[in-house]
Amino acid sequence: MSKVSIIKCENYEKNVVFEALKKACDSSDFPNIEGKSVLIKPNILSDSNVDKAITTNPEVLRSMINYVKAKKPKSIIVGDSPALHKSGMTPTNSGIYQVCEEEGVEWVNFLKGSFKVKLPIINKKITLTDTLNDIDVLISLPKFKTHELMIVTGALKNQFGLVPGFHKSPQHVKYPNKDNFAKMICGIHTQAKVGFALMDAVIGMEGAGPGNGTPRQVGVLIASNDLLAVDVAQATIMGHSPLDIPIIKCAILNQLTDTRKLDDIEYTDINPNDMIISDYKRIVKNKKSENGQRATPTFIPEKCILCRKCVEVCPASALSVVDKKIELDKSKCVMCYCCHEVCPAKAIEIRK
Ligand code: SF4
Ligand code: SF4
Repeated sequence: MSKVSIIKCENYEKNVVFEALKKACDSSDFPNIEGKSVLIKPNILSDSNVDKAITTNPEVLRSMINYVKAKKPKSIIVGDSPALHKSGMTPTNSGIYQVCEEEGVEWVNFLKGSFKVKLPIINKKITLTDTLNDIDVLISLPKFKTHELMIVTGALKNQFGLVPGFHKSPQHVKYPNKDNFAKMICGIHTQAKVGFALMDAVIGMEGAGPGNGTPRQVGVLIASNDLLAVDVAQATIMGHSPLDIPIIKCAILNQLTDTRKLDDIEYTDINPNDMIISDYKRIVKNKKSENGQRATPTFIPEKCILCRKCVEVCPASALSVVDKKIELDKSKCVMCYCCHEVCPAKAIEIRK
Protein backbone atom coordinates (compact mmCIF):
# COMPACT_ATOMS: atom_id res chain seq x y z
CA MET A 1 0.00 0.00 0.00
CA SER A 2 1.47 3.38 -1.02
CA LYS A 3 0.61 6.59 0.78
CA VAL A 4 -0.14 9.75 -1.21
CA SER A 5 -0.61 13.06 0.49
CA ILE A 6 -2.53 15.76 -1.41
CA ILE A 7 -2.36 19.03 0.51
CA LYS A 8 -4.02 22.36 -0.31
CA CYS A 9 -1.57 25.10 -1.36
CA GLU A 10 -3.30 28.06 -2.95
CA ASN A 11 -0.30 30.18 -3.96
CA TYR A 12 3.50 30.34 -4.12
CA GLU A 13 4.12 32.53 -1.06
CA LYS A 14 7.21 31.18 0.66
CA ASN A 15 5.59 30.31 4.01
CA VAL A 16 2.43 28.92 2.42
CA VAL A 17 4.45 26.55 0.23
CA PHE A 18 6.74 25.44 3.06
CA GLU A 19 3.87 24.64 5.45
CA ALA A 20 2.01 22.67 2.77
CA LEU A 21 5.16 20.86 1.63
CA LYS A 22 6.11 19.91 5.19
CA LYS A 23 2.65 18.54 5.85
CA ALA A 24 2.70 16.60 2.58
CA CYS A 25 6.14 15.10 3.20
CA ASP A 26 5.52 14.34 6.88
CA SER A 27 2.38 12.36 6.11
CA SER A 28 3.61 10.30 3.16
CA ASP A 29 6.59 8.24 4.36
CA PHE A 30 9.43 10.61 3.43
CA PRO A 31 12.61 8.46 3.38
CA ASN A 32 15.42 8.62 5.92
CA ILE A 33 18.12 10.68 4.17
CA GLU A 34 20.41 11.38 7.13
CA GLY A 35 24.05 11.18 5.98
CA LYS A 36 23.04 10.61 2.35
CA SER A 37 23.87 12.47 -0.85
CA VAL A 38 20.64 13.89 -2.26
CA LEU A 39 19.82 15.12 -5.77
CA ILE A 40 16.69 17.28 -6.06
CA LYS A 41 15.41 17.24 -9.62
CA PRO A 42 12.88 19.88 -10.69
CA ASN A 43 11.18 19.69 -14.10
CA ILE A 44 12.87 22.20 -16.43
CA LEU A 45 11.48 21.33 -19.84
CA SER A 46 12.81 24.63 -21.09
CA ASP A 47 14.12 27.38 -18.84
CA SER A 48 11.14 29.70 -19.08
CA ASN A 49 9.52 32.51 -17.15
CA VAL A 50 7.80 31.06 -14.11
CA ASP A 51 4.42 32.57 -15.12
CA LYS A 52 4.20 30.14 -18.04
CA ALA A 53 3.90 27.15 -15.64
CA ILE A 54 6.35 25.14 -17.75
CA THR A 55 8.86 24.52 -14.96
CA THR A 56 8.57 23.54 -11.31
CA ASN A 57 8.03 26.76 -9.38
CA PRO A 58 11.29 27.90 -7.68
CA GLU A 59 9.49 28.37 -4.35
CA VAL A 60 8.61 24.68 -4.34
CA LEU A 61 12.30 23.92 -4.90
CA ARG A 62 13.29 26.31 -2.10
CA SER A 63 10.90 24.66 0.34
CA MET A 64 12.13 21.19 -0.56
CA ILE A 65 15.77 22.26 -0.11
CA ASN A 66 14.95 23.58 3.36
CA TYR A 67 12.91 20.51 4.28
CA VAL A 68 15.77 18.24 3.15
CA LYS A 69 18.40 20.33 5.00
CA ALA A 70 16.56 19.70 8.28
CA LYS A 71 16.92 15.92 7.72
CA LYS A 72 20.75 16.21 7.94
CA PRO A 73 21.82 14.77 4.58
CA LYS A 74 25.51 14.53 3.69
CA SER A 75 25.02 16.81 0.66
CA ILE A 76 22.33 18.35 -1.54
CA ILE A 77 22.65 19.09 -5.24
CA VAL A 78 20.02 20.28 -7.73
CA GLY A 79 19.95 19.46 -11.43
CA ASP A 80 17.99 18.69 -14.60
CA SER A 81 18.72 18.50 -18.31
CA PRO A 82 16.25 20.09 -20.75
CA ALA A 83 16.12 18.83 -24.35
CA LEU A 84 18.13 21.79 -25.66
CA HIS A 85 20.63 21.66 -22.80
CA LYS A 86 23.98 23.31 -23.52
CA SER A 87 26.96 22.80 -21.24
CA GLY A 88 27.14 25.54 -18.62
CA MET A 89 23.38 26.23 -18.81
CA THR A 90 22.00 27.75 -15.63
CA PRO A 91 18.21 28.04 -15.31
CA THR A 92 17.91 31.73 -14.51
CA ASN A 93 14.73 32.51 -16.49
CA SER A 94 12.73 30.17 -14.26
CA GLY A 95 14.42 31.47 -11.09
CA ILE A 96 15.61 27.96 -10.21
CA TYR A 97 19.30 28.85 -10.35
CA GLN A 98 18.79 31.91 -8.12
CA VAL A 99 17.12 29.72 -5.47
CA CYS A 100 20.10 27.32 -5.55
CA GLU A 101 22.46 30.26 -4.98
CA GLU A 102 20.31 31.81 -2.24
CA GLU A 103 20.01 28.49 -0.41
CA GLY A 104 23.70 27.61 -0.83
CA VAL A 105 23.26 24.37 -2.82
CA GLU A 106 25.12 23.41 -5.98
CA TRP A 107 23.41 23.43 -9.39
CA VAL A 108 24.96 20.46 -11.23
CA ASN A 109 25.61 20.09 -14.92
CA PHE A 110 24.12 16.78 -16.14
CA LEU A 111 26.34 17.04 -19.25
CA LYS A 112 29.61 16.69 -17.29
CA GLY A 113 29.66 12.95 -17.91
CA SER A 114 27.44 10.04 -18.79
CA PHE A 115 27.25 6.26 -18.78
CA LYS A 116 25.35 3.67 -20.76
CA VAL A 117 23.10 1.16 -19.10
CA LYS A 118 20.82 -1.59 -20.36
CA LEU A 119 17.29 -0.87 -19.20
CA PRO A 120 15.03 -3.63 -17.94
CA ILE A 121 11.45 -3.68 -19.35
CA ILE A 122 12.58 -2.37 -22.76
CA ASN A 123 15.84 -4.38 -22.72
CA LYS A 124 17.85 -1.75 -24.61
CA LYS A 125 20.73 0.55 -23.74
CA ILE A 126 20.37 4.22 -22.91
CA THR A 127 22.73 7.05 -21.89
CA LEU A 128 22.16 8.56 -18.43
CA THR A 129 23.93 11.38 -16.61
CA ASP A 130 26.72 10.13 -14.36
CA THR A 131 25.48 12.51 -11.66
CA LEU A 132 23.45 9.44 -10.70
CA ASN A 133 26.71 7.78 -9.62
CA ASP A 134 27.38 10.61 -7.13
CA ILE A 135 24.10 10.33 -5.20
CA ASP A 136 22.25 8.01 -2.85
CA VAL A 137 18.72 9.39 -3.25
CA LEU A 138 16.83 11.36 -5.90
CA ILE A 139 13.94 13.60 -4.88
CA SER A 140 11.80 14.46 -7.86
CA LEU A 141 9.78 17.69 -8.21
CA PRO A 142 7.54 17.15 -11.24
CA LYS A 143 5.01 19.68 -12.54
CA PHE A 144 1.27 18.99 -13.02
CA LYS A 145 0.95 19.23 -16.82
CA THR A 146 -0.62 17.80 -19.94
CA HIS A 147 1.55 16.26 -22.67
CA GLU A 148 0.62 16.11 -26.38
CA LEU A 149 2.37 12.75 -26.89
CA MET A 150 2.09 10.93 -23.54
CA ILE A 151 -1.24 12.58 -22.50
CA VAL A 152 0.23 13.74 -19.16
CA THR A 153 3.71 14.43 -18.00
CA GLY A 154 4.28 13.61 -14.35
CA ALA A 155 6.51 12.04 -11.73
CA LEU A 156 7.67 9.01 -13.72
CA LYS A 157 8.09 11.06 -16.90
CA ASN A 158 10.25 13.57 -14.97
CA GLN A 159 13.00 10.90 -14.90
CA PHE A 160 13.52 11.47 -18.64
CA GLY A 161 15.61 14.50 -17.64
CA LEU A 162 18.30 12.05 -16.47
CA VAL A 163 19.03 11.43 -20.16
CA PRO A 164 21.43 14.30 -20.86
CA GLY A 165 20.58 17.01 -23.41
CA PHE A 166 20.87 15.90 -26.99
CA HIS A 167 20.70 12.19 -26.10
CA LYS A 168 17.04 12.82 -25.35
CA SER A 169 15.24 13.57 -28.62
CA PRO A 170 16.76 10.59 -30.53
CA GLN A 171 14.86 8.33 -28.11
CA HIS A 172 11.71 9.41 -29.96
CA VAL A 173 13.12 7.88 -33.15
CA LYS A 174 14.16 4.74 -31.29
CA TYR A 175 10.76 4.47 -29.54
CA PRO A 176 8.25 6.19 -31.87
CA ASN A 177 5.34 4.25 -30.41
CA LYS A 178 4.01 5.68 -27.12
CA ASP A 179 3.79 2.23 -25.51
CA ASN A 180 7.49 1.57 -26.18
CA PHE A 181 8.30 5.10 -25.04
CA ALA A 182 6.45 4.35 -21.79
CA LYS A 183 8.53 1.18 -21.36
CA MET A 184 11.72 3.22 -21.78
CA ILE A 185 10.55 5.73 -19.13
CA CYS A 186 9.71 2.89 -16.72
CA GLY A 187 13.12 1.36 -17.42
CA ILE A 188 14.86 4.63 -16.52
CA HIS A 189 12.90 4.71 -13.26
CA THR A 190 14.55 1.44 -12.21
CA GLN A 191 17.97 3.14 -12.44
CA ALA A 192 17.05 6.51 -10.94
CA LYS A 193 17.50 5.94 -7.16
CA VAL A 194 14.25 7.80 -6.57
CA GLY A 195 13.25 8.08 -2.95
CA PHE A 196 10.41 10.57 -3.10
CA ALA A 197 8.36 12.84 -5.37
CA LEU A 198 6.51 16.03 -4.66
CA MET A 199 4.44 17.35 -7.56
CA ASP A 200 3.94 21.10 -7.98
CA ALA A 201 0.20 21.25 -8.71
CA VAL A 202 -0.37 24.72 -7.29
CA ILE A 203 -0.62 26.09 -10.83
CA GLY A 204 -0.62 23.35 -13.43
CA MET A 205 -0.77 23.45 -17.21
CA GLU A 206 -3.76 22.50 -19.35
CA GLY A 207 -4.20 22.36 -23.11
CA ALA A 208 -1.16 22.01 -25.34
CA GLY A 209 1.37 20.83 -22.75
CA PRO A 210 4.05 20.30 -21.77
CA GLY A 211 5.48 23.51 -23.28
CA ASN A 212 2.67 25.47 -24.91
CA GLY A 213 -0.39 25.04 -22.76
CA THR A 214 -2.16 27.48 -20.44
CA PRO A 215 -1.57 27.86 -16.69
CA ARG A 216 -4.47 26.55 -14.59
CA GLN A 217 -4.95 26.83 -10.84
CA VAL A 218 -5.15 23.39 -9.23
CA GLY A 219 -4.16 24.47 -5.72
CA VAL A 220 -2.40 21.42 -4.23
CA LEU A 221 0.91 19.66 -3.70
CA ILE A 222 0.96 15.88 -4.27
CA ALA A 223 3.57 13.79 -2.41
CA SER A 224 4.56 10.14 -2.13
CA ASN A 225 7.57 7.86 -2.13
CA ASP A 226 5.75 5.97 -4.91
CA LEU A 227 5.97 7.98 -8.14
CA LEU A 228 3.38 5.86 -9.88
CA ALA A 229 0.89 6.71 -7.12
CA VAL A 230 1.58 10.45 -7.62
CA ASP A 231 0.84 10.02 -11.33
CA VAL A 232 -2.40 8.15 -10.60
CA ALA A 233 -3.51 11.07 -8.40
CA GLN A 234 -2.61 13.61 -11.10
CA ALA A 235 -4.45 11.69 -13.84
CA THR A 236 -7.54 11.37 -11.62
CA ILE A 237 -7.66 15.10 -10.84
CA MET A 238 -7.38 15.89 -14.56
CA GLY A 239 -10.41 13.68 -15.19
CA HIS A 240 -8.65 10.71 -16.81
CA SER A 241 -9.14 7.07 -16.14
CA PRO A 242 -5.54 6.47 -14.91
CA LEU A 243 -5.10 3.26 -16.91
CA ASP A 244 -5.59 5.29 -20.13
CA ILE A 245 -2.21 6.90 -19.45
CA PRO A 246 0.49 4.83 -21.23
CA ILE A 247 3.17 5.26 -18.54
CA ILE A 248 0.75 4.37 -15.70
CA LYS A 249 -0.49 1.32 -17.58
CA CYS A 250 3.06 0.18 -18.34
CA ALA A 251 4.21 0.73 -14.74
CA ILE A 252 1.35 -1.33 -13.33
CA LEU A 253 1.80 -4.13 -15.86
CA ASN A 254 5.51 -4.33 -15.00
CA GLN A 255 4.96 -4.07 -11.21
CA LEU A 256 7.29 -1.09 -11.13
CA THR A 257 6.31 0.09 -7.64
CA ASP A 258 4.17 -1.01 -4.70
CA THR A 259 1.08 0.16 -6.60
CA ARG A 260 0.05 -3.10 -8.26
CA LYS A 261 -3.53 -1.98 -8.77
CA LEU A 262 -5.21 1.40 -8.44
CA ASP A 263 -6.79 0.70 -5.05
CA ASP A 264 -3.35 -0.07 -3.54
CA ILE A 265 -3.11 3.67 -2.81
CA GLU A 266 -4.03 5.24 0.52
CA TYR A 267 -4.80 8.98 0.36
CA THR A 268 -3.87 10.49 3.71
CA ASP A 269 -5.57 13.86 3.19
CA ILE A 270 -7.54 14.88 0.08
CA ASN A 271 -8.80 12.05 -2.16
CA PRO A 272 -8.21 12.99 -5.83
CA ASN A 273 -11.68 11.68 -6.70
CA ASP A 274 -13.08 14.51 -4.57
CA MET A 275 -11.29 17.20 -6.58
CA ILE A 276 -11.68 16.13 -10.21
CA ILE A 277 -11.57 19.23 -12.42
CA SER A 278 -14.26 18.33 -14.92
CA ASP A 279 -13.45 21.11 -17.38
CA TYR A 280 -9.66 20.61 -17.30
CA LYS A 281 -8.43 20.95 -20.88
CA ARG A 282 -6.78 17.56 -21.08
CA ILE A 283 -5.31 15.58 -23.95
CA VAL A 284 -8.05 13.02 -24.45
CA LYS A 285 -6.06 10.86 -26.82
CA ASN A 286 -3.37 11.38 -29.39
CA LYS A 287 -4.77 13.49 -32.17
CA LYS A 288 -5.12 11.79 -35.52
CA SER A 289 -5.10 13.29 -38.96
CA GLU A 290 -7.73 12.47 -41.59
CA ASN A 291 -5.88 9.37 -42.78
CA GLY A 292 -5.94 7.90 -39.25
CA GLN A 293 -2.24 8.54 -38.53
CA ARG A 294 -1.08 10.66 -35.59
CA ALA A 295 -1.10 14.32 -36.54
CA THR A 296 2.08 15.99 -37.78
CA PRO A 297 2.83 19.48 -36.40
CA THR A 298 1.49 22.57 -38.14
CA PHE A 299 3.76 25.64 -38.29
CA ILE A 300 2.27 29.14 -38.04
CA PRO A 301 4.62 31.55 -39.88
CA GLU A 302 3.02 34.72 -38.45
CA LYS A 303 3.98 33.64 -34.93
CA CYS A 304 7.40 32.16 -35.74
CA ILE A 305 10.40 34.16 -34.52
CA LEU A 306 12.84 31.93 -36.45
CA CYS A 307 14.75 30.94 -33.31
CA ARG A 308 15.48 27.51 -34.91
CA LYS A 309 14.95 25.64 -31.65
CA CYS A 310 12.56 23.24 -33.41
CA VAL A 311 15.17 22.55 -36.11
CA GLU A 312 17.84 21.88 -33.47
CA VAL A 313 15.72 19.51 -31.41
CA CYS A 314 14.07 17.51 -34.22
CA PRO A 315 15.46 13.96 -33.92
CA ALA A 316 14.38 13.02 -37.45
CA SER A 317 15.98 15.97 -39.31
CA ALA A 318 12.51 16.71 -40.66
CA LEU A 319 12.74 20.50 -40.34
CA SER A 320 14.63 23.16 -42.23
CA VAL A 321 14.42 26.90 -42.84
CA VAL A 322 13.39 27.76 -46.39
CA ASP A 323 12.69 31.37 -47.45
CA LYS A 324 12.59 32.44 -43.80
CA LYS A 325 9.94 29.86 -42.97
CA ILE A 326 10.09 26.50 -41.20
CA GLU A 327 9.50 23.69 -43.65
CA LEU A 328 8.45 20.19 -42.54
CA ASP A 329 9.31 17.04 -44.47
CA LYS A 330 6.32 14.92 -43.46
CA SER A 331 7.94 11.75 -44.77
CA LYS A 332 10.61 12.04 -42.07
CA CYS A 333 8.46 13.23 -39.14
CA VAL A 334 8.06 10.64 -36.35
CA MET A 335 5.37 12.74 -34.61
CA CYS A 336 7.26 13.05 -31.36
CA TYR A 337 6.22 16.71 -30.86
CA CYS A 338 9.63 17.71 -29.48
CA CYS A 339 9.45 20.77 -31.76
CA HIS A 340 6.13 21.75 -30.19
CA GLU A 341 7.60 21.30 -26.68
CA VAL A 342 10.51 23.68 -27.25
CA CYS A 343 8.86 26.38 -29.37
CA PRO A 344 8.89 29.58 -27.31
CA ALA A 345 6.40 31.42 -29.55
CA LYS A 346 3.35 29.09 -29.71
CA ALA A 347 4.10 28.88 -33.44
CA ILE A 348 3.52 25.12 -33.67
CA GLU A 349 0.18 23.39 -33.21
CA ILE A 350 -0.79 19.74 -33.18
CA ARG A 351 -4.00 19.81 -35.19
CA LYS A 352 -6.33 17.05 -36.32
S1 SF4 B 1 9.02 17.72 -36.95
FE1 SF4 B 1 8.53 17.85 -34.77
S2 SF4 B 1 7.14 16.13 -34.46
FE2 SF4 B 1 8.17 15.74 -36.40
S3 SF4 B 1 9.96 14.49 -35.86
FE3 SF4 B 1 10.64 16.63 -35.86
S4 SF4 B 1 10.42 17.26 -33.73
FE4 SF4 B 1 9.22 15.39 -33.96
S1 SF4 C 1 10.77 26.88 -32.42
FE1 SF4 C 1 8.89 28.00 -32.95
S2 SF4 C 1 9.51 30.12 -33.13
FE2 SF4 C 1 11.39 28.91 -33.15
S3 SF4 C 1 11.80 28.57 -35.35
FE3 SF4 C 1 10.59 26.83 -34.63
S4 SF4 C 1 8.46 27.40 -35.06
FE4 SF4 C 1 9.66 29.26 -35.17
